Amino acid sequence: MARVFNFSAGPAVLPEEVLKEAADEMLDYNGTGMSVMEMSHRSKAYQEIIDTAEKDLRELMNIPDNYKVLFLQGGASQQFAMIPMNLMKNKKAGYIITGQWAKKAFQEAKIFGEAVELASSADKTFSYIPDCSNLDITDDMDYVYICENNTIYGTKYWQLPDTKGKDLIADVSSCFLSEPVDVSKYAVIYGGVQKNVGPAGVVIVIIREDLITEDTLPGTPTMLKYKTHADNGSMYNTPPAYGIYICGKVFKWLKKQGGLAEMKKRNEEKAKILYDYLDQSKLFKGTVRKEDRSLMNVPFITGDEELDAKFVKFAKENGLENLKGHRTVGGMRASIYNAMPKAGVEKLVEVMKKFEAENLK
Ligand SMILES: *Cc1c(COP(=O)(O)O)cnc(C)c1O
Repeated sequence: MARVFNFSAGPAVLPEEVLKEAADEMLDYNGTGMSVMEMSHRSKAYQEIIDTAEKDLRELMNIPDNYKVLFLQGGASQQFAMIPMNLMKNKKAGYIITGQWAKKAFQEAKIFGEAVELASSADKTFSYIPDCSNLDITDDMDYVYICENNTIYGTKYWQLPDTKGKDLIADVSSCFLSEPVDVSKYAVIYGGVQKNVGPAGVVIVIIREDLITEDTLPGTPTMLKYKTHADNGSMYNTPPAYGIYICGKVFKWLKKQGGLAEMKKRNEEKAKILYDYLDQSKLFKGTVRKEDRSLMNVPFITGDEELDAKFVKFAKENGLENLKGHRTVGGMRASIYNAMPKAGVEKLVEVMKKFEAENLK
């Protein structure tokens, strides 16, 4: 068996310990004589799995009691619609456009009401986070929406926008559990787990209880109401049972590593290795304004498309996979999530140095 260093943006690398544990339990989970995949979600064994997962997540993120944790399906993209359908009571909300995912959420919200662009970094290919200290937020807006870590462009809000008292909704898909967060600053935090938490198929929504009501936009389907899932412990229908089980194992793994403060420390350390190299390289350069750099997704270029492609191939030959940038922006992108070991980033820099030495004209 040869494992590669996998820099995929998502689905992405998972902790090897978690995968091994899952493999060990594949045929017989905890003496039940069956796989978690084969188990009724109404069984005692499964109830314990989902309850423990929620408990561990609450502990890791220090989630206040007045927030619900929902394990849903439909990916982050389904939240682009669920958020306005459930929360756009005044049919008006503010969106900050920092990349493709924020833009998609913004466009989806327009189906349901007036979505207002409060700020955007489209003018410079989303390579920075716009100034959000004095946005034109009006009283009739239901919420302010951000994509906190921009997976494709490699930017991150290091300071949350001043929402002028309005509820803040954040898509944290690609920075979920990468650092401690103050949940009370948000009305809703949500993310698809396939970036930094688990396998594709689960989206976790952390939502303040008072926002969960029957008062949704007319025509909102039962399955798209937060209340449906909150009232039924995420088991109104069959949940993504196996995916939640793996997320639960990742939560245990994170606790064992020392929790989110420790992850932040490690993530900073890993990112620094790569950024420090990029900042002095004569061949490669980072594409993001320094103060807005993500710790999770690191895009970089040589400035020459052919050379970029040559590097991606060279990296692959050296056991470094999925370094090609997003199809809409090109170049390279290294996603260095929680489960990417420091050795993977060190190897990447070593390979980049070698490539630089061989290819610098
Ligand atoms: C990947 C991603 C999405 C889309 O997730 P799906 O689960 O595929 O719908 C949305 N937002 C962010 C920030 C992402 O990284």
